[in-house]
Amino acid sequence: MKKLLPFLVFALFTPFPVGTFWAEARADGLPNLGEASQADFSPQMERKVGEEAMNDIRLHEPTYIDDPEINGYLTRLVGRLAANLDKGSQQSFEVFALRDPMLNAFAMPGGYIGVHTALILAAQSESELASVLAHEVSHVTQHHLARMVSNQQQSQMAALLALAVGVLAARSRPDLAMGAMLGGQAAAVQNQLSYSRDFEREADRIGIQLLEKSGFDIRGMGAFFVRMDKFGRIYENGAPGYLRTHPLTTERIADMENRIQGRPYKQVVDSLAFHLVRAKLRSQEGSSQDAVTEFSSQLKEHKYVSEAAAHYGMARAWLRDGKPDQAEKEVDNLSRLKIASPMIETLLAEIQVKRGEVPAAIKSLRAARSQYPDELGIGLLLIDTLLDAGRFQEALRVIVEEQQSRPTDARLYLLMARTYAGLNQQFRQHRALAEGYLLQGVLHSAVEQLELAQKAPDGDFYEQSQVDARLRTLRARLADEKLERRQ
Ligand SMILES: [Zn+2]
Repeated sequence: MKKLLPFLVFALFTPFPVGTFWAEARADGLPNLGEASQADFSPQMERKVGEEAMNDIRLHEPTYIDDPEINGYLTRLVGRLAANLDKGSQQSFEVFALRDPMLNAFAMPGGYIGVHTALILAAQSESELASVLAHEVSHVTQHHLARMVSNQQQSQMAALLALAVGVLAARSRPDLAMGAMLGGQAAAVQNQLSYSRDFEREADRIGIQLLEKSGFDIRGMGAFFVRMDKFGRIYENGAPGYLRTHPLTTERIADMENRIQGRPYKQVVDSLAFHLVRAKLRSQEGSSQDAVTEFSSQLKEHKYVSEAAAHYGMARAWLRDGKPDQAEKEVDNLSRLKIASPMIETLLAEIQVKRGEVPAAIKSLRAARSQYPDELGIGLLLIDTLLDAGRFQEALRVIVEEQQSRPTDARLYLLMARTYAGLNQQFRQHRALAEGYLLQGVLHSAVEQLELAQKAPDGDFYEQSQVDARLRTLRARLADEKLERRQ
């Protein structure tokens, strides 16, 4: 959370007392509820704060899982919910996983939602997982976080919101630099920072509606929340993270039960992706030997909900344990089941690479890519495999194709820089790095790379003048940011 630090320093040294704000706001058990529509807190500002926090998480958060298959699945699941939002509150969401044993999920302004792996693994059905996500989506669409701070002046709001987001993201990890820096104050804010009962009730109500409209089993919500509550009791502090940020009262449970009562029972079939994502996460838990033991016993004792996912997890566990031949046998078992998934295609290619069959892996990834053109996981693995094989021109073609549908993906620019490095094209390498860093929100590194591009011997006149212009714009922005922080 390094980039939040200037914000935090700013928050702590302005005359405005952060701790008092929370205490005052919560004196009656409720924060000062501002209106979401209040002009002094624009959706653009929410988006900006959320984006910065997201960039920090991607760059500095060690538990962030940079896996397009897992995050892609979660984002699509939320997309299914978001498609049923009222016209006025429609927006896009990005969902990501953090490797964390605390049951938790949190929403940041701007539509970013983080989910801990423990919560994904604790969900017994896709509807249960969707119920937590629907609740989080509702916190976002109702602008709850912003409303908690929106009675402050605009300049202080950004800082407060950043602080709130940082604390939410870091609440289960007191070892984070930010937590250490804030010390006692972080703890004080953490204790104050939970949504009010009104916000919780609103998020439950809207969440259940969303869940139902989207075709999930709404019973998942009550059941999952009660189970989390029970599970939480084994924690020393009495509650898992989720219920500390979203306090679960008997009133909330009764409310949920009332809403669910009388509704017809609905059998909802979980998607294959739900099971595969869980198996992938499970195969990464503990040691590789633990993972092998876990899936071996699942298969031997038929202790699984999805046979395909059990074989998939077994293959991933063998692969992690350095036994690609064993892993391939599991893929054979998968093809016997006649199921298709892009996640199985990438697994197969990873096994082929480990077995030294690189051309075969590239061939199967190319075939998979035309079958699933929207799957970034396949494209990224193909690019990576091509680069490792020194096939730079081919890699470049795939990167440019992927960029057409994802022009703001920093990863593609960083891979492009790697490609140009391989082709020994210095000017283009630095320019691609600059764009990648810019998209990651690291402005000063972007400027540095453009300066290196200026000095590179292989840029033509036209390209060089483009870089000059870009550099002027970015230097001006950098100066603005410095000024903003000094204020
Ligand atoms: Zn909540």
